[in-house]
Amino acid sequence: MATIHLSNPVTDLYGIGPAAEEKLAKLDIYTVYDLIAFIPWRYDDWSQLGTISSIDIPGSYNDNQGYDLSFRGTISTNPTVNITSRKKPLSFFVNDGTGRIKLTFFNSQYLAGKFSLGDECFVHGNATLFNGQMQMVNPYIEKAEKIEDNALVRPVYHLTAGITSNNISKWVRTAMKLCGDELLSVIPKSIAEEKGFVSPGRAYEMAHFPATLEEARKAREQLAYEELILLGIGMKLYSSGHGVKEVAEQVIPSGPDGIGREQAARWNLIKGNLGFTLTSDQTAAFRDVQTDLMSTVPMNRLIQGDVGSGKTMVAALSMVITALMGKQAVLLAPTSVLASQHYKTISRLMQNSGMEPVLLLGKTKPSEKAEINEKIASGSARVIIGTHALLTDDIRFKDLALVIADEQHRFGVKQREKLLFKDTVNDGTVKSVHNLIMTATPIPRTLAMVIYGDMATSVIRQKPAGRQEITTWFVNSKKSKAIEEMMSVKLAAGEQIYIVCAKIDKDETEAGSDNLIGGPVGGDESVTSVFEMKKMVDSMSDLSQYSSAVLYGSMKEKEKLETMERFIAGDIKILISTTVIEVGVDNPNANVMIIMDADRFGLSTLHQLRGRIGRGDKKSFCLLVSESRSELALQRMKMMCESSDGFELAEKDLELRGPGDFYGTRQHGIPTLRAANLYTDMKIASEATEAVNRIIEEGGEEAERLNDAIKKMFELRFARKMEQI
Ligand code: ADP
Ligand code: MG
Repeated sequence: MATIHLSNPVTDLYGIGPAAEEKLAKLDIYTVYDLIAFIPWRYDDWSQLGTISSIDIPGSYNDNQGYDLSFRGTISTNPTVNITSRKKPLSFFVNDGTGRIKLTFFNSQYLAGKFSLGDECFVHGNATLFNGQMQMVNPYIEKAEKIEDNALVRPVYHLTAGITSNNISKWVRTAMKLCGDELLSVIPKSIAEEKGFVSPGRAYEMAHFPATLEEARKAREQLAYEELILLGIGMKLYSSGHGVKEVAEQVIPSGPDGIGREQAARWNLIKGNLGFTLTSDQTAAFRDVQTDLMSTVPMNRLIQGDVGSGKTMVAALSMVITALMGKQAVLLAPTSVLASQHYKTISRLMQNSGMEPVLLLGKTKPSEKAEINEKIASGSARVIIGTHALLTDDIRFKDLALVIADEQHRFGVKQREKLLFKDTVNDGTVKSVHNLIMTATPIPRTLAMVIYGDMATSVIRQKPAGRQEITTWFVNSKKSKAIEEMMSVKLAAGEQIYIVCAKIDKDETEAGSDNLIGGPVGGDESVTSVFEMKKMVDSMSDLSQYSSAVLYGSMKEKEKLETMERFIAGDIKILISTTVIEVGVDNPNANVMIIMDADRFGLSTLHQLRGRIGRGDKKSFCLLVSESRSELALQRMKMMCESSDGFELAEKDLELRGPGDFYGTRQHGIPTLRAANLYTDMKIASEATEAVNRIIEEGGEEAERLNDAIKKMFELRFARKMEQI
């Protein structure tokens, strides 16, 4: 037999054919390694033996939940099949000395041949009352001598149809036997010793086949270390050479004659174009950026600020000052709608300054693109705004010094790497650019470190003055009159409205809408789609005079932009869309947002959506429409009505969804973790990564071992995923 390695496809394992391959792919399992790393998400503990009589103890049994019980006993009636009706279930009694219970098996006639009267066996099942008699339906049963005590903590895997936990267990056993010893540990020896860790192969064994729950817990702890070190260090190794010195241009000279008189005059003119004064948080953030731009150490800064806090202005000013100093700056936006909007804002800011920004989108005509490229190459265009169309190779910058990414998490890691525009020069140093990231997602500091490396952060907490609080209401029926009334009052006042839906049409959900709770809603009849909503709005008698339009991600770019422009211009009064508008659309005249099936969205998403309104000086309302009566949904709606603080809501989101499902990890562009929990294990992440970094910096044998292991394991664990996200 050919040797099988961790990187081999799963189909190389005995018993995995094309049908299983397809199903495993749904679980994100492609290689033998993926299979091993697919550890159970929880365990059923069958090892605590009970007695049949314990069912009768008051309070132990209840009609809704029945009674879960593991016990050993003797088969006390004949397990024969009813010959006259083979369809009838197989039933027999088992007695454990404290009492007896009836076991009933459907579609399991073969058991009749396997068990006979008097056999000692182990049983685990759920006892329920049926026709006045306690019984277990389809319990797990095995002959007592065949049961090993260490098989009684049963792994439970996140599964897909057609694959059972037993399948996984069997395949993992084979995989472990064939190449378990290829697994390398990325944990420093000192930590492993202190913690009493075992070999990674043994840890995976303990996770898949634990003898006790404690063993499973220990395995998970060790694997969390492996995973977090891999992620934290591996990401850095993956996206940059390690230990090379990077230098960026000094954009602003630090000396007394840094900014010349003429430049200062233009700068004042530009600030006059702002039309408002910066909030003190904006001022502080911009000062941070200016300081960074005075150094040749590449800026690596994150601006965190709630939606509407005015991050864009800080970015715009940073670009303009870079351009004033004769260097180039790029602003990357995740959507063309957003890029066009930024272009407008910045054009206004740069009026009469003698400079003009350029805009480059995927749909920009080739002739126009050539012209813009020419301007970029000659350096006559210094403020450059666009989407990832800017990341193609045919663009040559003259003197690029600053790259800003808006809502960065929307870019994949691969793209992120390109954003840094690194270039190795002759003397071995790497020429880099200053890098600024803007995000409205509140990211805990430790998590940011894992994702972005060692980043400086500027936080904008205040909202610009004069903003009105948004009033948020929970509407518990889609038929509520309140919806139509709110709409007609606001429309009559000349204002505009957003309506957000969780899906596009009957079957289709927005691609990549991982913000939806409970997975895709396509096909779920109870969820109102964009197109259904459009029909509903058109048929509301009070509203028929107002124009409405739909907007969703898979529309043609051109149509999307046109729709947005018409909405901003006021031609369209009611915009019915998916979460595409979550990112950055700015229309101060739209003061009402109606979110249909609001229970389907996470708190962070709801908050981001709501940030689209309340941008002008009018009173704004957000209606959360949901017919869900689930406790969790109602709690989330309540939170939204009570709080308008993004940071607070993010924390609550975490609390409500539970630590197992850290909100938006996918939004941050990091792959799903199997053992680690990004919230509760953050301390592990920072401590372990720091330790590894120290060792690698010091060099030596252990450093070499770790470097090598991290490289190999990262390749197996994350490399493929890096291309995808
Ligand atoms: P963010 O990008 O943080 O979501 P924006 O930069 O888009 O927020 O700003 C939201 C709105 O507030 C924009 O219309 C912008 O012109 C306006 N704005 C920004 N800063 C101020 C300020 N200091 N005073 C008044 N309005 C401001
Ligand atoms: Mg923004």
